[in-house]
Amino acid sequence: MEQTLTIIKPDAVAAGNAARILALLEEKGFRIRAIRMMRLSEAQAREFYAVHRERPFYESLVRFMTSGPVIPAVLERENAVAALREAIGATDPAEAAEGTVRKRFAESKERNAIHASDSVENAWREARFFFSEADLLGTAP
Ligand code: ATP
Ligand code: MG
Repeated sequence: MEQTLTIIKPDAVAAGNAARILALLEEKGFRIRAIRMMRLSEAQAREFYAVHRERPFYESLVRFMTSGPVIPAVLERENAVAALREAIGATDPAEAAEGTVRKRFAESKERNAIHASDSVENAWREARFFFSEADLLGTAP
């Protein structure tokens, strides 16, 4: 078993699609191990996406990610990191495969409904970004 970190982004939460997206992921075998709803501060959004700070879309991405509540969650499944990346689809919904979360729910390349960690190492780091060690202790596979 493996864990990964997802975030239901502000566009999907505002559109009322959060539970639908989580249900779709549960149907694909992911189990929710930790979950919360919060509004990211500007500082938190800047830190979370620090790897993109030189990119032209960074300021807009920070504005988007702080525009409304988000739902971070730790998901568990066999091969969870790769399986979630496949389940969410390409960054741009125009390029996302049929049946993926972004094909169905994303509005644009920026407002793309969901985040998924891109490695086991980042999944752990990102889980700790949103959840305390105590929150995560009981969730280990
Ligand atoms: P995420 O990290 O959110 O799971 P990703 O790994 O598919 O998505 P990244 O390249 O890490 O995509 O970009 C992080 C986020 O920044 C994207 O999900 C999207 O919201 C936004 N983004 C990326 N590229 C662009 C772009 N060219 N124009 C606008 N927004 C972008
Ligand atoms: Mg990414």
